[in-house]
Amino acid sequence: MSTEEQDKKIDDLLQTLKEASASCLGYPVSHDFDYSRLNEFFQYSINNVGDPYEGNTYKVQTHEMEREVVDFFAKLFRANPKDYWGYITNGGSESNLYGLYIARELYPKAMVYFSESTHYSVKKNIHLLNIPSIMIRSQENGEIDYDDLQNTLQFNRHKPAIILTTFGTTMKEAKDNVSKVKKILKHLAIQDHYIHCDAALAGSYGTFIEPRVPFDLADGADSISISGHKFIGSPIPSGVIITKRSVRDKISNGISYIGSKDTTITGSRNGHCPLFLWYAIKNMGIEGLKKRYLHSAEVAEYCKNELIKIGIEAWTNPGAITVVFPKMSEEIQEKWQLATDEITHIICMPNVTKEQIDNFVKDVLKEQEVVL
Ligand SMILES: *Cc1c(COP(=O)(O)O)cnc(C)c1O
Repeated sequence: MSTEEQDKKIDDLLQTLKEASASCLGYPVSHDFDYSRLNEFFQYSINNVGDPYEGNTYKVQTHEMEREVVDFFAKLFRANPKDYWGYITNGGSESNLYGLYIARELYPKAMVYFSESTHYSVKKNIHLLNIPSIMIRSQENGEIDYDDLQNTLQFNRHKPAIILTTFGTTMKEAKDNVSKVKKILKHLAIQDHYIHCDAALAGSYGTFIEPRVPFDLADGADSISISGHKFIGSPIPSGVIITKRSVRDKISNGISYIGSKDTTITGSRNGHCPLFLWYAIKNMGIEGLKKRYLHSAEVAEYCKNELIKIGIEAWTNPGAITVVFPKMSEEIQEKWQLATDEITHIICMPNVTKEQIDNFVKDVLKEQEVVL
């Protein structure tokens, strides 16, 4: 391939990605970041290998930023200031794997309970970890069915319980209530339990939702995972896991045979992502994050109402930025990149504007006219 051909191929790809970013309404990915201040860091082979809290002989790393990102989310999720730990992962899936991994190390004889609406990464992780599990029914809105959870737990109350709650399910952005789950565990006197909250998308703004849905560490979760490239936005996928230091310490002893604390899932770890996340949260702050959520919530409300106006049965879970409606034609699915099963959705990420919603609604109207 000649240099000109290579150049053309790269330029074409860039153009394709630009256009695809501008018309993406169906996936929980923010496209509105600007990390150009950090361009120079692409000259360096940054690698955050090892525990971000342990010393390390490889110095081309961003552990300090990584710890500050963990501090930020630990505070946001109301962790005990004296007892938290975490690290930046490759994404929400790895964060979920980590949560389930420490849960299994704590309770090797446990059963995992997760709902039908749980993300596919969880089922795969349970399989990888080889933990016995039971699927719990979901309610119509996507939230876990608490009665089914209670009944199922009752049959297995002699076993430790690992409950996987989801804060913002993939299709309907339903939120499992951690306080209700805690109450059930207490009622059944199941003392050996662990709750991991998968908050990949909604964790970053859960604190701002009113009325509040209990989900965080103060509410009773033992660990929380989020994705960094979803609500915050990042050119490379990433995630965060927040858990308790006391819990991590219990498992780090078990795997310390290499002489240092090998507490993370992967060895080499991305060192650019912690820097992106650090830059984003320092620029946004809590207030900026809240503003992002309020904008998204407003656009979601607008989107729902505009769709209802043209006769589409659109709805949202309370406080959600995901608008759910019956599935659309293949053309519309393709053009607006709508993830679809029986139903479909628009996720009003912070970059989504009312103008984009108007254009989407116009497309739907056009098709309705053709049918008439
Ligand atoms: C996106 C998502 C995940 C997986 O996160 P990745 O960052 O894609 O690995 C897990 N759970 C839920 C609910 C999600 O929405």
